[in-house]
Amino acid sequence: MQNTPDHQGASPGAIRSVVVAGGGTAGWMAATYLAARLEGRGITITVLESHEIGTIGVGEATVPAIRDFFRMIGLHDFDVLRATGGTPKLGIDFAGWGGEDTRFFHPFGLYGLSSRGVPFHQYWLKLAHGGLVRDLGDYSLCTEMACNGAFMLPVDNPVNDLAVFDWAVHFDASRFAAMLRDLGQQRGVRLIDDVITRAVRDGETGHITSLETRGGLSIAGDLFIDCTGFRALLLGEAMGSAWVDWTDMLPCDRAVAMPCAASGGFDQPYTTSTARKAGWQWRIPLQHRVGNGYVYSSAHISDDEAAATLRAHLEGEALAEPNLIRFGAGHRREFWRGNCIGVGLAAGFLEPLESTSITLIQTALEKLVDLFPNCACDPALADEFNRATTLEYERIRDFLILHYHANGRHGEALWDHMRAAPPPEKLAHKLSLWRARGKLVRYEWEAFFDPSWLSMYAGFGIMPAAHDPMADHFTDQQVVEALDHMREAIRAAAAHARPARDFLARLAPQA
Ligand code: FAD
Repeated sequence: MQNTPDHQGASPGAIRSVVVAGGGTAGWMAATYLAARLEGRGITITVLESHEIGTIGVGEATVPAIRDFFRMIGLHDFDVLRATGGTPKLGIDFAGWGGEDTRFFHPFGLYGLSSRGVPFHQYWLKLAHGGLVRDLGDYSLCTEMACNGAFMLPVDNPVNDLAVFDWAVHFDASRFAAMLRDLGQQRGVRLIDDVITRAVRDGETGHITSLETRGGLSIAGDLFIDCTGFRALLLGEAMGSAWVDWTDMLPCDRAVAMPCAASGGFDQPYTTSTARKAGWQWRIPLQHRVGNGYVYSSAHISDDEAAATLRAHLEGEALAEPNLIRFGAGHRREFWRGNCIGVGLAAGFLEPLESTSITLIQTALEKLVDLFPNCACDPALADEFNRATTLEYERIRDFLILHYHANGRHGEALWDHMRAAPPPEKLAHKLSLWRARGKLVRYEWEAFFDPSWLSMYAGFGIMPAAHDPMADHFTDQQVVEALDHMREAIRAAAAHARPARDFLARLAPQA
């Protein structure tokens, strides 16, 4: 796309220039997405980033929606996997969360088949109470493939109606940002490498009018996207949007990250999250290395002990010194204020337990385009953006809290504390409905759907007092037979998957 500054069709007061401050994953996702969606509207897009400051350098696991983002900006999944040393991800393996030797899988896919308008899990619960049923994961193709270290594309699944699944990717964050930077520049995004020193605001409207740089530049714009990471230079510092602190609910406040060699090769098409004494450890397999990190509460372990714990659990030779990252759970009270919108870490942060930060970048951009303002930036648009985004953060926060609330690690201070802490109101309501009758509820702006909640409840062994009586249409014996058929169909479908490393091998660079 070529930006055309004197675009003829633009209405008076239309946005003509968007300035993206920061060039990490958020900045380049913003620039490429806006370039694609605003094409032909004569809007110039400028990214102002600083190689001196750099990016956070983590953020390598995603959820399936990322593939919609690839499509929207004109990338094919395979191009991303090739360019970023990426791998497919079928879900997250949770080890040790229910107690030291426990594990369960959170799949990107459905469990079983519903019948007569009754969800599958009600039949499963009906049998579970009588001890007649298998593990819930046995009715999920995604889980079956993950356990076998196998992968196939959903289009290659021969029993689509029963074994519906999706997939996401793991990628090297710096390679992904570089890929988007190249793409953005090809599409006419202007790149300036300089350090922002000040945001200049209009005395009357309070809107940002320009950014001044150490190199003496003044970059004017109509709309400013703050992607400066935890610094939040525009939205936080210049516009004064306050921080809503959630560390009382999610006390993990640090991470130590350390990549290691991918010894043994890629054979786990999923992220692993292993509970440790004061938090949890991630394992993200890439083609050329494995990303590892320990997310922990600094009130419960020292930085040195956390780094030593991580090092002790690496599966291959460490490829870098430990990288210590400090953070806090929470978000800016207003994600959009005046003519400034925060995206990425500048907007908020929730620990990466369910890989949700990058998807929050994506949904922020989708909402921004949906509510795209003119230069006056009608506050009604910002209000709706802020309302929806706050809900979205709260829903994800509650899902993350469930992981801690339901933990089965006794005798460890962080875990005992998290089990005892009362859940937030909406989560408490969801839990009580589940416990009463296996009822799953979905609110507006929920990022995680029924199967995700189901995987947690079943994974942690939270079983309802009763199943839905509508499942009693069928006798136990009929349900046993139906579930056995489903299990067989899933096994048959899984037989079409191939070792995940073979899938990657077939993606060899194109001539
Ligand atoms: P950054 O990467 O920090 O980029 C900020 C940009 O602003 C940089 O380009 C910097 O140079 C620029 N900048 C800052 N100040 C100035 C200035 N004064 N002048 C000019 N430029 C400036 N997310 C997931 O979805 N999945 C994960 O698995 C995941 N894991 C994570 C693990 C940890 C420990 C943490 C902390 C986060 C994780 N995240 C994850 C979140 C993810 O890393 C971020 O959402 C993503 O990288 C986007 O970051 P960003 O672009 O907002 O910020």
